[in-house]
This record gives sequence, C-alpha cells and structure tokens, in this order.
Amino acid sequence: MYCVIQEIQKKKQFGICTVDYYDLATEWFCLYDWGNSKIETAAKEPNCSEEEIYTLIEKKLEPIQEQIIEEFKQTEEYKTHEKHEKITTLHAARKVEFNAAVYLVQGIERQKLKEIGVLLEETHPLGRLFDVDVLKENLESVGRTEIGATRRKCLLCNGDAKVCGRSRAHTVQELQEKVASIIRNWEESL
Ligand SMILES: [Zn+2]
Repeated sequence: MYCVIQEIQKKKQFGICTVDYYDLATEWFCLYDWGNSKIETAAKEPNCSEEEIYTLIEKKLEPIQEQIIEEFKQTEEYKTHEKHEKITTLHAARKVEFNAAVYLVQGIERQKLKEIGVLLEETHPLGRLFDVDVLKENLESVGRTEIGATRRKCLLCNGDAKVCGRSRAHTVQELQEKVASIIRNWEESL
C-alpha cells in the first residue's frame, strides 16, 4: 500500500512524496525527510508558505496514519516487534548514563562561546561525543550556522546528524559500538 500526498493550491497539484504502509505504520515516516525538497519547490508559489503546506499535509495525513497504526497494532508482527523493542531499549537505557553540566559564563560574547564549543566538539578526541550548547535569554541555543560553522556530522556515516537522527538511519547498537570505539581509541592514546 502506498499513499501519494498532493496539495492543491489554486488548482495546482504537487506530488510531495510516496510513503509505504510500513513507514506509516511504524511511525518511521517523517514529512521533513521524505518531502522537504518538494515542499520547498511548492512553497515558491505565491501566497503559499512552507509552514502552511506542512500544516495542510499533516492535517490530511494524521487521520490516515492513525488508522494504519491502529490496524498494524492488531497484527502478530507488531506484538513481536514491540517485545523485541522493549528489550533493546531497556538494555540501552541500562548501558548508557547521561551526564550533563550547566555553566553560567560571563564576560564573553555568546557567539565567541559557541565558537569555542564547536572547536571542542571538532578537535578534542572525544569531542564528537560532546554536545556543547550555548543558550540565549529565551533558552534557545545558538545554532552552528549562526557562527558560520557546518552542521554536526553523523558519527557513523558523516552525513547530516540531524537527518540520520530523524530518519533513524542507524541502530542503537551501531551507535553504541561507535561510541565505545571512540572512547577505547582515546584511552589507548593516553
Ligand atoms: Zn548517519
């Protein structure tokens, strides 16, 4: 089963993407990853913003997806999958401990501080495992692009980390193994 999403704007039609049943049923589907480039093109039409298109599509798609998910949850396949998922998630949660630190820094410009954070992330042997955020007054973080830096790269494939994260391109196990190997290499270099 597949689903073609079309948006009608002043009688113009845009094919946005094709989604298969499983991507919807397992909530793997992400409108941004699947359709962003086409949505960008469609948004070039007058009086039509990307945000409006996203809202329109989501409104139409939601009830369809909900129905598909409900159907899928009744299947044996889903029940087995759930059991497996629960075990692997628990396992991952036990293995990984998250440590976070918050610092209040004065006397330095936010942009400069972010530059130092990015430098640390890019040059320290464990830097790829760090996530240094610099917050503004409204608690939004300073983006890498705001200081002219490139977006974070995926640990495994060097693609855009956000895209890999959203589309769940890699398994938790693959990521854990990569993280462990980075730490091992660092320990051996000491
Ligand atoms: Zn990747």
